[in-house]
Amino acid sequence: MAKFVPANTAQILKKYDFTFQKKFGQNFLTDTGILEKIVDESEVGADDCVLEIGPGMGTMTQYLAERAGKVIAVEIDKKLIPILHDILADYDNVEIINEDILKLDIDELCDRYNNGRPLKVVANLPYYITTPIIMGLFESHVPLKSITILVQKEVAERMQQGPGSKDYGALSLAVQYYAKPEIVAHVPPECFIPRPNVGSAVIKLVRYDKPPVDTKDEKYMFKLIRASFNQRRKTLANGLANAGIGIKREDVTEALGKMGLSETIRGEALTLEQFAMLGNILAPNNDIGDKNE
Ligand code: SAM
Repeated sequence: MAKFVPANTAQILKKYDFTFQKKFGQNFLTDTGILEKIVDESEVGADDCVLEIGPGMGTMTQYLAERAGKVIAVEIDKKLIPILHDILADYDNVEIINEDILKLDIDELCDRYNNGRPLKVVANLPYYITTPIIMGLFESHVPLKSITILVQKEVAERMQQGPGSKDYGALSLAVQYYAKPEIVAHVPPECFIPRPNVGSAVIKLVRYDKPPVDTKDEKYMFKLIRASFNQRRKTLANGLANAGIGIKREDVTEALGKMGLSETIRGEALTLEQFAMLGNILAPNNDIGDKNE
């Protein structure tokens, strides 16, 4: 099966009279080495069903289709759909779906195409919605083995950060609760057409069988985390008390005391384990778990 040469992307798109849409975060990969690196790192094999988010014109989809049992490619831009059908015509294991990934029931896709067994997500993500895509995949508890994605370099770094870094935040904690993150490649703007204004990185998130911390109520813990980082300049006690989620300042102070932490500590200084502990102490004493759904 002949693959089209990624370096010929511009000529091929010209033939189809395709114009890039900035609003969809369209930066197509043209570097064969990076495409192979992403697919190698995803460790996709014949037993795997892959969800590719934003296949573009199908460059990486071809590489995935050669190795995977099945590829589900979800593309929002309807102008790309006929191009995808043309380019991927030789592969009978690719399903092309014209949808917005954020509106799609991925659990249903997983049931339909993989009998509910865990998927592997592999993608060169549209940068404007990287965080909602990742958070959506994790928080919805879609069965997943791993996520191997190309994202903005700063976002990849944020996923790996711990307390003490200015980039540490709700995304770092969410990713580290569900998966082990590892940056496996840096990708310069020259590897794309059109070139993005920022550097990029490939990050691999391998899902834990069991989260690394014990929490009585995961949703509640993430509410605390989000509220803490929304007001990261305030002390944790003030930030949570002002967040409008039904927490009293004195309850936070008391909980921090029990944990051996200063009452003036900021949320950005807490580890995932400490957020889990704080959530476990505070959860039974109030009802924020239901107020902010
Ligand atoms: N995978 C291709 C590649 O590597 O050359 C294209 C990657 S490009 C960075 C992101 C792709 O995601 C574009 O094709 C874009 O149209 C698509 N996209 C943007 N928003 C989307 C959404 N909400 N749902 C599905 N696809 C989306």
